[in-house]
Amino acid sequence: AKQQGRNTYQLYTEDLDSKLSLRVMLRSELQDAIEHGHLSLHYQPLMDRDGHVDGLEALVRWHHPTKGFISPATFIPIAEETGQIIPLSRWVMKQACQDARQLVAQGLLAGRMAINLSPLQFHRPNFLSTLRNVLNETGLAPAYLELELTEGILMRDTDGAIDTLHALNSMDVSTSIDDFGTGYSSLSYLRDLPIDKIKIDRSFVKDASKSDKNAAICRGIITLAQDLDLRVVAEGIETVEQHDYQMSLGCEVFQGYLFAKPMPLDSLTTWLTLRAQA
Ligand code: C2E
Ligand code: CA
Ligand code: CA
Ligand code: CA
Repeated sequence: AKQQGRNTYQLYTEDLDSKLSLRVMLRSELQDAIEHGHLSLHYQPLMDRDGHVDGLEALVRWHHPTKGFISPATFIPIAEETGQIIPLSRWVMKQACQDARQLVAQGLLAGRMAINLSPLQFHRPNFLSTLRNVLNETGLAPAYLELELTEGILMRDTDGAIDTLHALNSMDVSTSIDDFGTGYSSLSYLRDLPIDKIKIDRSFVKDASKSDKNAAICRGIITLAQDLDLRVVAEGIETVEQHDYQMSLGCEVFQGYLFAKPMPLDSLTTWLTLRAQA
């Protein structure tokens, strides 16, 4: 037992060490990636009940020169800690708006382009002016833009967040709550704030047809959304069964590998063009 305990301890410290050095390495390399264009955006379509495209979500990718592809789930939290999320987010915003503008010009953007916001970015005093600048520079009409927030974003600096959301609403930029149901905030913001859409987290959608509890949560969120006049999206739809089930609950919008994986702009353009011809 003693022996085992020691091995466990060693494994634990090695694991910590490697995590730590990965973080230190990523910090310094992320700066280069931002500066040298090793980041790119992939876009995933969202679908309505009739099977038409109902918007796109921009998802950032890091192509590391030697380590290959690094997931945003790994580097976004690090970028948040170091503050690198600010230049990174500025780049994402600009690139996504530029690409959306191109799709609009080609007649290929149905619905809005959604961008994920980080808390740090949203709470900066110059957030709105940066956003207005990006819209001006790229020529994208605000009615094509949607911002995805998390419940955590709304918990901090509530007064500031309320003002920002009202300003976005009057600009005609729409807002959605991402990963809905996984955060800790109260539901009163859904009543009090100009929010347009909620996205049911994949963890609830995944086994909804097999788990009574997840089914109850999905049903509850969809009913809530309908009663409050919010649009509702089921995230992470991978199977026909999951799609059918969310359809039967009355969900309006669907996103997941069943329809399309996130893809670079050129593949997306082809995908959208083929669908438009079909
Ligand atoms: P998210 O906003 O919840 O994005 C959805 C994630 O689910 C994406 O992972 C997407 O590729 C993945 N996904 C979509 N459909 C399916 C499916 O059917 N099955 C499964 N298993 N996964 C699916 P991704 O691209 O790795 O992004 C992870 C997270 O990183 C995002 O979660 C978001 O929180 C964050 N993120 C990505 N891009 C950005 C960004 O530009 N800015 C910020 N602040 N965060 C970002
Ligand atoms: Ca999202
Ligand atoms: Ca609105
Ligand atoms: Ca999500």
